[in-house]
Amino acid sequence: MATDLYSPGEIFTDGDSVPRVMIAPQRYIQGEGVIDHVGRYMSLVNSQRAAVLASTRGHSAEGARVMDSLRQRNITGVATTFDGECSLEEVNKQVEALKGENLDCLVAVGGGKCVDAGKCIAYRLDIPVVIVPSLASNDAPCSALSVMYSPEGINNGVEYFPDSPALVVIDTGVVAKASERFLVAGMGDAMATWYEAKACLANPNGRNSVGTRPTLACAAMGETCAHTLYEYGVAASASIVADRCDDAVERVVEANTLISGIGFESGGCAAAHAIAVAYTHVKEVHDNYLHGEMVAMGTLAHLMMEKNEDARKAAEFFARVGLPIHFGQLSMTKEQTEDIDTVAEASMGTGIIHNMPMTVTTELVRDSMLSANELGEVVASEIGDEAYRRLQGE
Ligand SMILES: [Zn+2]
Repeated sequence: MATDLYSPGEIFTDGDSVPRVMIAPQRYIQGEGVIDHVGRYMSLVNSQRAAVLASTRGHSAEGARVMDSLRQRNITGVATTFDGECSLEEVNKQVEALKGENLDCLVAVGGGKCVDAGKCIAYRLDIPVVIVPSLASNDAPCSALSVMYSPEGINNGVEYFPDSPALVVIDTGVVAKASERFLVAGMGDAMATWYEAKACLANPNGRNSVGTRPTLACAAMGETCAHTLYEYGVAASASIVADRCDDAVERVVEANTLISGIGFESGGCAAAHAIAVAYTHVKEVHDNYLHGEMVAMGTLAHLMMEKNEDARKAAEFFARVGLPIHFGQLSMTKEQTEDIDTVAEASMGTGIIHNMPMTVTTELVRDSMLSANELGEVVASEIGDEAYRRLQGE
């Protein structure tokens, strides 16, 4: 497991007293071309000498633009190359290499794992972290936690940090150039936010990721997130394919990154994420699908568990943007009862499944997964799987 460096639950809660807590990055900046102004924004953290963490590919693209922008503001950028895995080994190696560099800030430029590794490294160097995401596929940029992996890529717990990122700078032009599948996966992840926050709020024992009660603000943000996706999701996908960075893309990128990021962390997770994470126990799924794609399947099961009338609406939306809605679209079948049991049991092992407002059992999870699959098959036969096949390259 990752080192237990900091436990937010111990700070915020005391016995029976469980306050409502919301945490968020200090500044969130989104727009086309903003990556070229990172140096100017860095005056907010008084930086003179910053590490720039990116993959080899990242350094030749977005990383180079960040370095240029720092140079224009007379900030020294110290480039360091991320090896691809957010593991303790990688984090410790980076800390060893950077600790003599007299840095006052770390800028992490890249996808979810690079961003998460950047938070771990900055925490150990005791400097603020600035996040410059290159994808809008995940919730990592805005949160004060990192999902840890072994060097082989196996999930290895979570690290929490006392500070949220100082700045999140997301260039819509950059994320719009990434593949459509990434933006759509981000929509799958983001769509869970409202339903999970509502479940967590309805359960008096529901807790968010800092171990406290969610705020109404997070539920309101979650609602805006879902409405934004239902209204602009399909248009944003079309714009990405046409290489257009328009209002629909701006709205969806904000829903995927800011709203969903604050929403999952402070609003709380529930069955959707419990089941999504449990799907990684099935090798075929783990190896071939993105987190947000598993969250889409988890969300449908979550809604079936609640007998929520939005289940069909969500399934139809997922089908239109190309997210998986039945087992077949996760390379599984309903005859794989052992794998389905594994997922149901693994989801029971996550604390967040008990944020649901009803008593959850393995049987209930299994039944919800099966009825979600049934709904998904019906919806797929009505709407088709054209978007799904386009994204999966079939
Ligand atoms: Zn997620």
